[in-house]
Amino acid sequence: ATPPALSESKGHPSLRQVLAEELAELEATGLRRQRRVLESPQGTRVKVDGRDYIAFCSNDYLGLAAHPELIEAAREGAARYGVGAGASHLILGHVAAHHELEERLATFVGLPRALLFATGYMANLGVVTALTGRGDAVFADRLNHASLNDAALLSRADFRRYPHLDLAALGRLLAASGARRKLVVTDAVFSMDGDVAPLPDLIALCERHDASLLLDDAHGFGVLGPGGRGTPAHFNSGSPRLIYMATLGKAAGVFGAFVAGAAEIVETLVQQARPYVYTTAAPPMLSVALMKSLDLIRADEWRRHHLRNLIALLRERLQPGRWRLAPSSTAIQPLVIGGNDEAVAVSEHLARMGLLVPAIRPPTVPQGSARLRISLSAAHSEQDVAQLVEALREVEKES
Ligand SMILES: *Cc1c(COP(=O)(O)O)cnc(C)c1O
Repeated sequence: ATPPALSESKGHPSLRQVLAEELAELEATGLRRQRRVLESPQGTRVKVDGRDYIAFCSNDYLGLAAHPELIEAAREGAARYGVGAGASHLILGHVAAHHELEERLATFVGLPRALLFATGYMANLGVVTALTGRGDAVFADRLNHASLNDAALLSRADFRRYPHLDLAALGRLLAASGARRKLVVTDAVFSMDGDVAPLPDLIALCERHDASLLLDDAHGFGVLGPGGRGTPAHFNSGSPRLIYMATLGKAAGVFGAFVAGAAEIVETLVQQARPYVYTTAAPPMLSVALMKSLDLIRADEWRRHHLRNLIALLRERLQPGRWRLAPSSTAIQPLVIGGNDEAVAVSEHLARMGLLVPAIRPPTVPQGSARLRISLSAAHSEQDVAQLVEALREVEKES
């Protein structure tokens, strides 16, 4: 006869029982997340469970995710290269479309070389683990994206976090560090707050303390700066110490990410970044779609112009009441509610009114700062924003 599982045989709860209790705890504290099933393309008009909504949920800031020209480019890419790369980049998965996109991305952001990664999460893991290890130090803003934190932990470097945007604290940590290599890592536009890191000051600090800077521009690429060239272009700021990372599944509307910087950095990533080396190359059809996306990002200044107008309109109309907008000038406009249950209740109330705005709870944001993450897109109309403001006023009055 097969023996019973060890844990159960000794009267301990089984793994399944422990997990069931932990899940019940999530439920009880309002932290259990539910996935909605989207039945339409991503956009500002979506269908969920057979019902139509206006959505303020996506990172598709320029409205490119379902653009007909991108769809056509993907179709052409599939016809030319098939749907799967079939191998990693270092074997035979590095296709002409990947190569050309890398060259165009480097030119676009004005850096010597660029390297594609399958996702932004993997790009951050790849950069930090390839460039730092034991004896090195990683300095991180407390509100950085989870992928940067995971990367630092995986790297085995000394991991130091400084209070959000507190450059004086960062300066003290850098000055006190005896690490061999120092790497500062930061979101450029903070993903749950929408505020922008002061890049020129960060670069100056890195230069003073002989540190490198990994800038994660997931929410700035395509949106900020002339031509959508991102946060460095927005500040007209750069440095040989800058390692630039941006995702291609947000404003660019497709999927993937890239890292750009000095040739020695990028070649080191090709050789050493494990999430680059040990994974299948992304479908080349995505690179074909991304080249079209890059053309539209560059050419369609009106998308960024319209988006800026919508941001101003929302902030002007949504005067602070019990809930207030965090101080953000970007497409990410967080309405801070506080409690987890209340944030979820507001989100659900809006959904009953036909408006989808996600509630963001801990651990994604600090305890007590649950919020609605309103994200605006160039595909929204002024009328959409006006409708959201009206609905929020009504919900605030009723709750
Ligand atoms: C979305 C995001 C990532 C991860 O990018 P993916 O391509 O979705 O894996 C990394 N950093 C930040 C700041 C992000 O917002």
